[in-house]
Amino acid sequence: MSEDAHRPIRLVMFGRQGAGKGTQSATLAERYAAPHISTGDMLREAVAAGTPVGIEAKSWMESGRLLSDDLMLRVVDERLASADVEKGGFILDGFPRTIPQAEALLEIAPVDLAIDLEVPEDVVLERLSARRVCSSCGNVTNAELAEASGGRCALCGGELEQRRDDTPEAISERLAAYNDQTVPTIRWFEQKGLLVTVDGLGPPAEVTARLVAAIEAVVAG
Ligand code: AMP
Repeated sequence: MSEDAHRPIRLVMFGRQGAGKGTQSATLAERYAAPHISTGDMLREAVAAGTPVGIEAKSWMESGRLLSDDLMLRVVDERLASADVEKGGFILDGFPRTIPQAEALLEIAPVDLAIDLEVPEDVVLERLSARRVCSSCGNVTNAELAEASGGRCALCGGELEQRRDDTPEAISERLAAYNDQTVPTIRWFEQKGLLVTVDGLGPPAEVTARLVAAIEAVVAG
């Protein structure tokens, strides 16, 4: 598919926390003019805005536990009903994470492809504890670069901080949830013939090139 193609793309991105899934999803969303739908980002916004969903989600998120499928489906169902999704499709980042969520998703919308962005657990553990996020624009960087820039975002000058769920306890809870619930969900997509696995190691631009090749092998034409 070329960059100016009009057919909407419907993609599900899997990958352990810290695999680079959010960054790559944003890049792909721009390339394919598809809305980037990150349930984690939507929930963090809801927490910051103090909405009823945010109030319900806060403590669960901080401890690294998954929210209920019911709550997640309410959030996603509404988002997928928007006009931009109808026009541009979606790149889902962080949803589905359980088999019931996957089943519900396929009842709401068809999926062209699910991608497992594979990065070994020891690498993501290191990345997560060093991750720093701009409190203003959401740009993701690491502790070393954050220190070099005096704790300020290189893009907008906002304050860089550690995510509240990037503590050692919450990281181990999140990786356990990934192994227990999301890995079986990935296998579920594999059994449906909808999954490709892409190596997530290496410079971001190389990872993007691998993702684009995998998408175009399946979705193009
Ligand atoms: P993320 O930024 O994708 O790592 O999501 C941050 C947190 O939001 C997760 O640790 C969960 O507490 C919650 N969350 C996001 N997406 C989902 C989902 N699909 N199912 C359950 N909980 C979710």
